Amino acid sequence: MAELANCANCGAVFVKHQFRNICDKCWKEEEAAFDKVRDFIRKRENRTASMKEISEGTGVSEVLILKFIKKGRLNIARMPNVGYPCEGCGKKIQSGRLCQTCAGKLHQDLEMLREEERKKDRKDTYYAIHKRYKSSE
Ligand SMILES: [Zn+2]
Ligand SMILES: [Zn+2]
Repeated sequence: MAELANCANCGAVFVKHQFRNICDKCWKEEEAAFDKVRDFIRKRENRTASMKEISEGTGVSEVLILKFIKKGRLNIARMPNVGYPCEGCGKKIQSGRLCQTCAGKLHQDLEMLREEERKKDRKDTYYAIHKRYKSSE
C-alpha cells in the first residue's frame, strides 16, 4: 500500500514521493514558478532587479524564490541587488548558507580541532616512547 503524507505547502493528503514533501499540484505550480523566475532574471533589463521586483514581476513569492536560490537552482551571481542574509552574521550573500568570512571561520575552527587532535596523538606517542625508554633502564 502506498504511504500517504500531508503536503508541506497546502496540507493536502498525497501519496508520499521519495523526492518531494509537497503534492503533485503544488510541485507543478512550483516548477511553473521556477520557469517564470528563471526567464525573468535571464532578461538583460532585469539584471538590476531586486528580490522584491522579481517577486512583483513574476508573481512568485520571495520565500519561494529564496528556496530556488538556496537549492542552487537559480544563479544570481550576476544580479547585484539580489541577496539574502548569511546564517552566521547576517551579511548579504548570494549563494549557499554562509558568507565567505563565516565559511572561512568555520573552516578554521575545523582545522584547529583537527590540529588539536594531531597534537594529542603526538603527546601520546611521546609518552609511550618515553615510558619504554625508562623501563629499559
Ligand atoms: Zn500541495
Ligand atoms: Zn557571515
